[in-house]
Amino acid sequence: MDIPRIFNVMESAHRIHNPFTPEKLAALGAALRLEAGTRVLDLGSGSGEMLCTWARDYGIRGTGIDMSPLFTQQAKLRGIELGVTDRVEFIHGDAAGYVVDEKVGVAACVGATWIGGGVAGTIELLARSLRAGGIILIGEPYWLKLPPTEEVARQCHAGSISDFLLLPELLASFGKLGYDVVEMVLANQDSWDRYEAAKWLTMRRWLDANPDDDFAKEVRAELTPAPERYAAYTREYLGWGVFALMLR
Ligand code: SAH
Repeated sequence: MDIPRIFNVMESAHRIHNPFTPEKLAALGAALRLEAGTRVLDLGSGSGEMLCTWARDYGIRGTGIDMSPLFTQQAKLRGIELGVTDRVEFIHGDAAGYVVDEKVGVAACVGATWIGGGVAGTIELLARSLRAGGIILIGEPYWLKLPPTEEVARQCHAGSISDFLLLPELLASFGKLGYDVVEMVLANQDSWDRYEAAKWLTMRRWLDANPDDDFAKEVRAELTPAPERYAAYTREYLGWGVFALMLR
């Protein structure tokens, strides 16, 4: 079981697979006022940076589940590196429908809401693992400004304009599901650059190391237009943030 290979190649050197810097991830942890021993569930935990650094900095206990064997392995290694293996565990698997027996204080899905079939379905899924009074974290894109055409939306890697909302609408949508938005940390252009531009060097290095790989054509096709496409579209039109929710 694995995700499409292009992501494992493009993001193999990323610790955070989202437009967040380490500083923003730390700011989010601080904003949540996490107490030592709080249990955190993370669906689509990637390379485990959120759980490992929050275990180190705030003493949380974490369980992460991710479909990429590579990212899951990197998460385990990061746990060893940060000396938190007694507090975090990483499971390789499909997080769709994943619910824990022992309820958690924070249930997160940061940049992978397709796991629950969209934002609403993912909130519902996370709520099944959450203790009363707990916090749900949703990481999700939103439009900074509405794309003028469907083509512009597609250039931002969206299926269509209707895939995402403007920020006020996204915040309102959480309210309509019965949740208060109690905190948020948003990406900015610098943190987007860290996420997107880091892929370019990774892809270039991969191409240099694997010139005869059958997959090289696909990686080259991704790399060549990426900087210009990113600057013209994603960087201008797409926002991203992590939203902390509590049931009303
Ligand atoms: N939350 C992490 C990773 C976000 S990228 C971070 O912020 O760094 C999206 C992640 O979802 C990838 O790691 C990918 O491997 C994982 N993923 C995709 N589909 C999944 C599924 N069905 N179940 C579990 N993980 C999945």
